[in-house]
Amino acid sequence: ATLPYDDQNVFAKILRGEIPNRTVYEDDFALVFHDINPQAPTHVLVIPKGAYVCWDDFSAKASDAEIAGFVRAVGKVARDLGLVAPGYRLLANTGTNSHQEVPHLHVHLFAGQPLGPMLV
Ligand code: 5GP
Repeated sequence: ATLPYDDQNVFAKILRGEIPNRTVYEDDFALVFHDINPQAPTHVLVIPKGAYVCWDDFSAKASDAEIAGFVRAVGKVARDLGLVAPGYRLLANTGTNSHQEVPHLHVHLFAGQPLGPMLV
């Protein structure tokens, strides 16, 4: 179970065009844009178009088409940005212990330098 979706969250506003963003890719299922506070030379956020709070919400409630479209968008952006050979890292924070700050599902894509060992 997760919190109810808050349609005033910052990524909902970005999806509605109420806040500007630097878009990398967009299709029916996903929007990809640069993180405002990048933690790597390449740091983009992939968000579903649908109103899902987090990974738990999305994986439980989204349609197969939404899930497939979202996952394919993540992979397509990584390929289109030339990140497959050098490598990249995906991260999705979910829930209190993860320090998720924005309550609309987002997958972080980090790349552009050796990223070091994973955090635990
Ligand atoms: P979280 O901690 O929820 O996993 O990550 C939220 C991310 O959203 C952070 O990396 C933060 O820099 C980014 N962020 C927060 N507000 C905005 C915004 O208005 N525009 C963009 N492009 N990124 C944002």
